[in-house]
Amino acid sequence: MENNVLKRIFQENWEWFSVKHKKRIRPAVEKEVGKFLGCGNPKNGFKLLVCEGCHDIRRVPYRCKGRFCTTCSCGETEEWSRMMAEDVFQVNHRHMIFTIDEGLRDIFLRHREMLKDFMDEAVRVVQEHFEKKHKVKVGVIAGLHTFGSRLNFNPHVHMLVTMGGMTANGEWKTYDYIPFQKLRKVWQTVVLKLICRSLTEEEKRKVQPLLQKAYLENEEGFYVHAPKQSGNVKAQLGYIGRYIRRPALRGVCKAV
Ligand SMILES: [Zn+2]
Ligand SMILES: [Zn+2]
Repeated sequence: MENNVLKRIFQENWEWFSVKHKKRIRPAVEKEVGKFLGCGNPKNGFKLLVCEGCHDIRRVPYRCKGRFCTTCSCGETEEWSRMMAEDVFQVNHRHMIFTIDEGLRDIFLRHREMLKDFMDEAVRVVQEHFEKKHKVKVGVIAGLHTFGSRLNFNPHVHMLVTMGGMTANGEWKTYDYIPFQKLRKVWQTVVLKLICRSLTEEEKRKVQPLLQKAYLENEEGFYVHAPKQSGNVKAQLGYIGRYIRRPALRGVCKAV
């Protein structure tokens, strides 16, 4: 019997579930679940290892390297964060998280085409702030999460941001202050504008009450935070990298 609980759940239920909800399952989801289900199955190919001494034979099935796969994605995440921590400037970074009002989540769920702009806008807010305030080019690596801790749809952006930047004459200038109050308001305006310019007039009319509510109920703007990091630069980078690339279902594995 399969001892990966999640895989067992998918083996037992994916077939009927995908038939029942065919229209609502995006091709990318179908593809990733397919890879996950076939991962490690020798029918999909394997390496054959033979011991030259005793001629013992081992078959090692290929893995799927899928981002949804609980076996592969953890390894990929480790590798990615390790390489990223090597690659980036070895300076202090902060892990910034940009979220939105709960009432707006559904709009993004129904208009997933806005998600790329959503992430890009968050990056732009950060870049523009440091450019204006400190006249520097800041370094940002951004990742979009569409899931929350309860696996609900909850789009938010994680960013790894250098606490310093390059001036026009190529010098490095450091700073440590993040003006959360200001960023929250700017981010709120940017998200509301993004929705307004992406939807048709009719769609806009429908979501107008939600936009109004999101504006009025968040006087201080949408929640933006950046937890203080401890430890050396490399350890911080590794931690943030793993967090940004964390697969959706790994949290569930741990909690079970
Ligand atoms: Zn896999
Ligand atoms: Zn997240």
